Amino acid sequence: MSGVKIAVIGAGMAGLACAEALTAQGHRPILFDKGRGPAGRMATRRLKTPAGEVVFDMGAQYFTVRNPDFAEAVSRWLELGLVAPWPDAGPQAWVGAPSMTAPLKAMAAGLEVEWNSFVMGLSRHEGQWRVHTKTGEAGDFDAVAIALPAEQATPLLALTDPSFHRRNLLSPTSPCWTAMLTFSEPLSTSSSILRQRGCVQWAARNSAKPGRVGPEAWTVHASHDWSLAHLEQSAEWVADALCDALLTLTEDEGRDYVTASAHRWRFALSTGLGLDSLWNRQIRLGVCGDWLLAPRVESAWLSGVSLARRIGADVNEPKSQAETILAN
Ligand SMILES: Cc1cc2nc3c(=O)[nH]c(=O)nc-3n(C[C@H](O)[C@H](O)[C@H](O)COP(=O)(O)OP(=O)(O)OC[C@H]3O[C@@H](n4cnc5c(N)ncnc54)[C@H](O)[C@@H]3O)c2cc1C
Repeated sequence: MSGVKIAVIGAGMAGLACAEALTAQGHRPILFDKGRGPAGRMATRRLKTPAGEVVFDMGAQYFTVRNPDFAEAVSRWLELGLVAPWPDAGPQAWVGAPSMTAPLKAMAAGLEVEWNSFVMGLSRHEGQWRVHTKTGEAGDFDAVAIALPAEQATPLLALTDPSFHRRNLLSPTSPCWTAMLTFSEPLSTSSSILRQRGCVQWAARNSAKPGRVGPEAWTVHASHDWSLAHLEQSAEWVADALCDALLTLTEDEGRDYVTASAHRWRFALSTGLGLDSLWNRQIRLGVCGDWLLAPRVESAWLSGVSLARRIGADVNEPKSQAETILAN
């Protein structure tokens, strides 16, 4: 059997990489994502401020490139002007340009994606998968790939594959509060990045990244412990607290911001299990995502491609009679 129809649940880096690789093999992936467009944990926020428009990277700040296959993909993105090296963050650090979502948007543009589709469940009938969303259902998929953060994959795995579900529970994702701050003048520090100081896990001058325009803008990620301790605080309170922490670090106490906002990532950084992907060939159910490998953009891409290879290697092989009985 070739050219099979595959439902890919989640259109973050893992799901898009999986769908791209499946398309390259001649299959027909259809992605479902609850969001309005490509973002996931590489999301950005566009803000109009009195000092000018800013596009903040509010999730992943940069990504590293170590694997040769991923390096090839990044070279293609570089040729298209979708990424740029960011030496401030290290010799292997890259960013999307003009924002982190740029490569995701380009990947999604070549694929069939159902946006605003929150997937609530999966069911099987006569060997075919059906996807149940908040607003309806879609069917007759030969295989399913689940490309969600661990906790969001749990309800789908609990009802489909007990062994995948057990592994899923071993990879919890930590929360992270993120503040996005704009200022009328540059802060005093000449550094564009501040790391691991007090409640600040990471702070970066967003406006200093390649391809960014606009006023002085900083993204601040709070540490794991601080984020957990203040998880239910209001976004306003968090934005003020992280602004004070940043201004203390840069010795700009007393300065005021032009705008301050915050985003709570309930599921930010996964634990990672050191596995590429999971594939159950009996029921043709696969799982990919950063939580299987490591909490990084590169790992999400590698996991998605790994799953696509496993699906591709399998769906072309005829099933034995026993497998056909088990699958139905
Ligand atoms: C604050 C923060 C900082 C980070 N910093 C870095 C960094 O500096 N470098 C780095 O490499 N990585 C970083 N990461 C991690 C990196 O962003 C992730 O590893 C990577 O983006 C994960 O991709 P993914 O496709 O596995 O998951 P996601 O990007 O989370 O994609 C999952 C998709 O599934 C969708 N979805 C969820 N539930 C459903 C549902 N029920 N139905 C339909 N769709 C659903 C979501 O809308 C989303 O689009 C950071 C992450 C965060 C949050």
